[in-house]
Amino acid sequence: MHHNKGFATRAIHAGQRPDPTTGAIMTPVYQTSTYVQQSPGVIIEDYDYARSANPTRKALEENIASLEGGRHGLMFASGLAALAACVHLLQTGDHVVLCDDVYGGTFRTLDKVFKQFGITYTRVDMTDLDATDAAFTAKTKLCWIETPTNPLLKIIDIEAVSRIAKAKGAIVGVDNTFASPVLQNPLALGADIVLHSCTKYIGGHSDVIGGALIANDDDIAQRLKFTQNAVGAIMAPWDSFLLLRSTKTLQVRVQRHCENAAKIADFLAEQPQIERVIYPGRADHPQHAIAKKQMRGGYGGMITATLKGGLPAARSFLERVKLFSLAESLGGVESLIEHPAIMTHASIDKPLREALGISDGLVRFSVGIEDVADLIEDVREALN
Ligand SMILES: *Cc1c(COP(=O)(O)O)cnc(C)c1O
Repeated sequence: MHHNKGFATRAIHAGQRPDPTTGAIMTPVYQTSTYVQQSPGVIIEDYDYARSANPTRKALEENIASLEGGRHGLMFASGLAALAACVHLLQTGDHVVLCDDVYGGTFRTLDKVFKQFGITYTRVDMTDLDATDAAFTAKTKLCWIETPTNPLLKIIDIEAVSRIAKAKGAIVGVDNTFASPVLQNPLALGADIVLHSCTKYIGGHSDVIGGALIANDDDIAQRLKFTQNAVGAIMAPWDSFLLLRSTKTLQVRVQRHCENAAKIADFLAEQPQIERVIYPGRADHPQHAIAKKQMRGGYGGMITATLKGGLPAARSFLERVKLFSLAESLGGVESLIEHPAIMTHASIDKPLREALGISDGLVRFSVGIEDVADLIEDVREALN
């Protein structure tokens, strides 16, 4: 109904209508496990049992699908539950190609859970298209892209990698968590499935764990929906309600995240204590041109920087920041900072970490929407 409207309009209205019984403007929390039937098998819409369908969740599913320009949306209990539903499309003997600095939990799911069922994978630097092409085998059924990547903020050309994957007959999934639907819509660039950890920008207030899948293809969507119900990792009604509240402000939040991050990245680049700043919006980012091509309206709220002086320098900086809270996760209104080698990426062996470029001097900023002058002052004081 709202598919031809602008992003902000869809964010506020798509999937939602005043409650038919009271006119309540907000979609109620349908905290119910089952629905009364008029006669055996005679149900209202598709509501028979709440694992299969829930009106609060459905409103959110339609809302998020609309934000990604997709026809089908599915909500899960977490981003990783959503990922698992994608991998459940595969069978024993199938192979996955994924980008090398993929989210650690995504790698763990493939390496520790699905590998034991005979689903194999190859990690490849997807900024290298020849290497990407060579990573596919006759058994590859899924190509998994994440861009910007975590924590190195590499930008992968979604259109180019999708073209390679399609030629090999693989389904393309894009983890769009870091960009959010505000900045990037992978379905329009050739992807089949978009994943969000709604725990991050979509939720935006560090108070919900959740995941979403969006697809256009009816058959893929049907198979994912089957898994959502059959495996059962659904999103709860209350979390769906909170996320409906969050998507309404997603665009204004992400705009501010981008503005603040761009200023802080430029500030960091001028500091003598900083060896290197990685921010896709800066002209010195190796894939800035691709970011410019496939993202719109900004380059996200994440910055990665390397401090001169390695671990001791990084440790003392992280102990001294005050407004930036030292914590895992990202995408909330409050600024967070973390040390990938010790915190989020500790499960990757040091040699591989170093090979990927996750050095001991590396820190990752999730820039919030506070006053940027205060954030810069905090960084300045902690560096000196
Ligand atoms: C956090 C995150 C996930 C996992 O999501 P959860 O909601 O924590 O399960 C997946 N991908 C990316 C890029 C993430 O940042």
